Amino acid sequence: MKVLVLNAGSSSLKYQLINMADNHVLAEGLVERIGQSVGKLKYKTTEKYEEERPFPNHETALVRVSELLQDEKMGVIKDANEIEACGHRTVHGGEEFNHSILIDDAVLSTMKKCIPLAPLHNPANITGIEVAASIFPKAKHVGVFDTAFHQSMPAKAYKYAIPAKFYEEDHIRRYGFHGTSHLFVSREAATMLGKEQKDVNVITVHIGNGASIAAVKGGKSIDTTMGMTPLAGLVMGTRCGDIDPAIPYFLCKNKDLTIDEVDQILNKESGMYGLTGNSDLRDIEDKFIAGDAVCTEAMEIYAYSIKKAVGSYFAALGTVDAIVFTAGVGENSDIVRKMVCSDMSGLGIEIDESKNEGRKTNNIEVSSESSRVKIFVIPTNEELEIANQTIEVLKNL
Ligand code: AMP
Repeated sequence: MKVLVLNAGSSSLKYQLINMADNHVLAEGLVERIGQSVGKLKYKTTEKYEEERPFPNHETALVRVSELLQDEKMGVIKDANEIEACGHRTVHGGEEFNHSILIDDAVLSTMKKCIPLAPLHNPANITGIEVAASIFPKAKHVGVFDTAFHQSMPAKAYKYAIPAKFYEEDHIRRYGFHGTSHLFVSREAATMLGKEQKDVNVITVHIGNGASIAAVKGGKSIDTTMGMTPLAGLVMGTRCGDIDPAIPYFLCKNKDLTIDEVDQILNKESGMYGLTGNSDLRDIEDKFIAGDAVCTEAMEIYAYSIKKAVGSYFAALGTVDAIVFTAGVGENSDIVRKMVCSDMSGLGIEIDESKNEGRKTNNIEVSSESSRVKIFVIPTNEELEIANQTIEVLKNL
């Protein structure tokens, strides 16, 4: 069976066509700048192809992707009907969706009710689903939610100590994100430990441009660092993570900023970018290695925010079998992994510096022989997880 995984953003469309018989990626790519005067399409099979032209909307973008997939020279399928299912990455499923689901009209209208919780992301995701359903009408369409994996959190982890009516009336609570990634790497970790998922406790550290950590007990998320929105928790590329909640009020009152300007500052101009003027950790690391004082302090702030969250999830889980590093920084930065795991032997965490060295493209253990807790680097694969969940949903119909 071939599954097309789609991730529709407000002006972009990421896609991957996977042959589920062997998990082989037949084609993948991205359409960017949808709706602007000139858009860009990237298409990769064994060869790479790019084109620049206007893509007025998501429909024109996906129609072109579909043409390329069936193209005589560059195509990987003969007929669109070979795509039996589409798995749609959807950011916010609220409390409505605790698992992936076959999309029908009722599901779509429930998804629309979740728009207030993710006003930037969910409308684009829904557009992607509607467009794909019209272009691939014979395929089954499955929604896979970033929030679903964290729906197992207990109330003590997801409720905020604000007036109860805001939860009851407006659904303000912790939801958590990156669920497909936390689920994927925690399952891989259980395999690496040679145990079943129900028998292991894992702390999954997903650090990319966005970053979150989850405490996963017996295969279920019991806490995570992101909150109602992806702004909470760790220091990120451009997002501030946890700060004193009174700071937005202070900025509006004393700096004459509007609440929209503060929102922009905390989401797009904070985090590593706010501290150093650069959000790309590769550049910050280069300056850190060269002894730059600003970047050294920023790296310490960054690693310390991760270290504190790992420590708190030890308390939440009681016992921990493994810590997993994943995503752009987690997989590639031996410096960050070392900074996070240093001076943690009291918790049974000891990294092996030589095993840790370098970028990792395969699952690997980087803890020392004597470390009570295993430290793994596991490349995440959210597309494969979405495709697997799509298949699971279809199996259970
Ligand atoms: P992601 O959002 O998972 O794609 O991760 C993007 C982040 O990973 C960016 O901040 C990159 O700078 C970071 N990253 C990618 N490669 C490296 C590397 N070799 N060393 C440090 N950070 C990296």
